[in-house]
Amino acid sequence: MKILIDNGHGVNTKGKQSPDGRLREYAYAREIATRVMTELRGMGYNAERVVEEEQDVALSVRCKRVNDICKKVGTKNVLLVSIHNNAAGGDGKWHEARGFSSHVGMNASAKSKALAQYLWNEAILQGLKGNRCVPYAKYIAQNLAICRDTNCPAVLTENLFQDNKEDVDLLLSEEGKEKVTAVHVNAIVEFIKDYYG
Ligand SMILES: [Zn+2]
Repeated sequence: MKILIDNGHGVNTKGKQSPDGRLREYAYAREIATRVMTELRGMGYNAERVVEEEQDVALSVRCKRVNDICKKVGTKNVLLVSIHNNAAGGDGKWHEARGFSSHVGMNASAKSKALAQYLWNEAILQGLKGNRCVPYAKYIAQNLAICRDTNCPAVLTENLFQDNKEDVDLLLSEEGKEKVTAVHVNAIVEFIKDYYG
């Protein structure tokens, strides 16, 4: 299996930070993506980041990179997770919403939905449920280009809220970073074991 880790946004993407500026989504997602990739490689998995650049890379370019790899190694041998932080307001103020969620495209395959469920289950195990309702299906279907326009199983994770004070404190702590990393590593490993034997 080729495990692709995407991090949304770039240093030049506007907004996408905590109201106090301590957390910037582009930097946080890159740090977690690197941790996830490094841990998976340490366990012998073939993991790679889709975006090496600090600048924003257009969604169409990121999707093409993923699909080129699908073409090269076979779509059935690839999976993709895109790492983000959620936001309730986008108005530069603190908000109440907390916690993790797992997202797939409207055209998601059964495998995409399954991977999303593994991720949400793992987030609950790591205590990252926050104060949000977990939908029965344990994924939220949305029109997301990174999921919609890529050929392999693809999930986008929203890792807590960058505009909730408690979430930001947790996200920026070593404990929080280890939990968010573990959500991805554990879910991906379990998913591969169960679906690819
Ligand atoms: Zn994002």
